[in-house]
Amino acid sequence: EAGKKPRQFRAEVRKVLHILTNSLYTNREIFLRELISNASDALDKLRFRINRGESPSLPDLPLEIRITIDKDAKTLTIADTGLGMTAEELAENLGTIAKSGSEQFLADIAAENAAKAKSGNGRAHEDDAEGEEAVADAANIIGRFGIGFYSVFMVANKVTVTSRPAFGEDSSAHTWTSDGLGTYTVTQSEDAEPARGTVIKAWLKDDAEEFLEKFRVESAIRKHSAFVPFPVFVDGEQANTQPALWREPKFSITKEQYAEFYKALTYDNADPLDELHFSVDAPVQFNALFFIPASAQDFFGSDRDFWGLDLYARRVLIQHRNKELIPEYLAFLKGVVDTEDLPLNISRETLQENVVLRKINQVIVKQTLSHLEKLARNDAEKYNDFWRLHGKIFKLGYHDFANRERVTALLRFNSSTQADAEALTSLDDYMSRAPEGQKTFWYVAAPNREAARLNPHMELFRQKGIEVLYLFEPIDEFVMDGLGRYKEWEFKSVEAAADDALKDFADKEKAARESAAPLSDEDSTSFEDLMAKMKELLGDKVTDVRISHRLADSPAVLVSPDGGMSSSMEKLLKVMQK
Ligand code: ADP
Ligand code: MG
Repeated sequence: EAGKKPRQFRAEVRKVLHILTNSLYTNREIFLRELISNASDALDKLRFRINRGESPSLPDLPLEIRITIDKDAKTLTIADTGLGMTAEELAENLGTIAKSGSEQFLADIAAENAAKAKSGNGRAHEDDAEGEEAVADAANIIGRFGIGFYSVFMVANKVTVTSRPAFGEDSSAHTWTSDGLGTYTVTQSEDAEPARGTVIKAWLKDDAEEFLEKFRVESAIRKHSAFVPFPVFVDGEQANTQPALWREPKFSITKEQYAEFYKALTYDNADPLDELHFSVDAPVQFNALFFIPASAQDFFGSDRDFWGLDLYARRVLIQHRNKELIPEYLAFLKGVVDTEDLPLNISRETLQENVVLRKINQVIVKQTLSHLEKLARNDAEKYNDFWRLHGKIFKLGYHDFANRERVTALLRFNSSTQADAEALTSLDDYMSRAPEGQKTFWYVAAPNREAARLNPHMELFRQKGIEVLYLFEPIDEFVMDGLGRYKEWEFKSVEAAADDALKDFADKEKAARESAAPLSDEDSTSFEDLMAKMKELLGDKVTDVRISHRLADSPAVLVSPDGGMSSSMEKLLKVMQK
């Protein structure tokens, strides 16, 4: 009969299997999530066809997933009563792998391993500090490339998949068998089980016996498969008990429920800073539940890849950390999007240029900006907390041309008139404090307040009582440059201020004014020799040496020519060129 003789996996599948079985040690528990989500997919497809009026075999069989552990045989079994597969489907679905995905996978994992080898230490990102050398994070890689089913070979050295289709003439069952090394067989099965659907049996490797512990399996399910819309039983007891909160009406949910859900979703121990919950019907249908965490993440460093939203289609997880749903500057958002407008079996490659996701993305940006605007208006303290935690990534929103005005209004700065380093101002508040006639946001880049204050260019601004925004992060000057203008005002560094830039503004400090009184002709001539000498000494390093009236306490100051770079920008570019 067809398939008795062993068949070869396709070449790239063999390579992927080799890596899965030999290199991935962190987060191996996600094989459970992959098998459960496949079972859930199969149940959902069955339910869909039932709803369309088709009748499956054994229509009274409940839609559920049952996991059983056999400690003596060292096997773990996952059974679903879903759609099932024919012999052909077993070979087709489990013998091949998404082509583009697997090539990308191989390239990426090679790069990742090279980088790890170079830095000499692996990083166990989530909770699994299993003490083994972490060559790569399985969850991350498997999620990214949709090599779901094969993840079982991280923990098993033999797997059988026995399946009986729910529809069709031929109701016989077939078994796919493989050791995950290079070949597989498909044979007719004489077993009574499954009566409908699929049973996957995994013989666990010696180093994966932890998955023979019920609590271990249950905790992995609570962590990764909490919202699967069908009951998941482990040795007879239900392990997934979280409702899909995002589908519940907002008014019926308490703060505590939100917090509990957030913790289950993110494994954060602290309550979230804030949540956003909404549903949209046009132009796309989706439910969304987002959280703003109360702690910061380092998206420019170790957390670079750890953002994105969980994408569900009708409560079934399609992709963890989907990055098409939000622009990078909203990377601080954690949460769930659930839409009716995507097919369940959409592949990860097609997700990338998907029109539905693009529309959802646009709606999410608008909703999030509105939410932040409301927060800034109604609870400035909390908004400032948000800014201190997540402002660093949010300010990248200056790239979002369509929403630039709104993003700019949400930016916050410390400034020369603030009481301390913690205080923040918006650009609108800055404008409201500025004297009549000012049309420039003045800023100074410095590592901290003290350095900013000591910058000699600040003297003139102090003297005139003009507020100066403090930019503490290297990226800030790029943001200012990128923004160009806000409400007709331009952004300018104090270092680029012309000597007479503030001549229209009255002095605030009388004493300072006096000490900076204009030089008499006599003084000017007596300085001429000094000027000549300095020009000679400095040569090409400067474009000019001039007498200045702007300084009160400092003997000299370096000035950027108009349109030139500020000194900190020059420093940054020098570092980047190295
Ligand atoms: P994906 O789920 O992303 O399609 P997987 O590698 O996880 O990729 O699964 C490959 C395919 O195998 C699935 O698309 C499905 O067609 C089939 N499959 C896996 N598990 C089951 C199951 N329990 N019941 C029915 N079909 C399944
Ligand atoms: Mg899958």
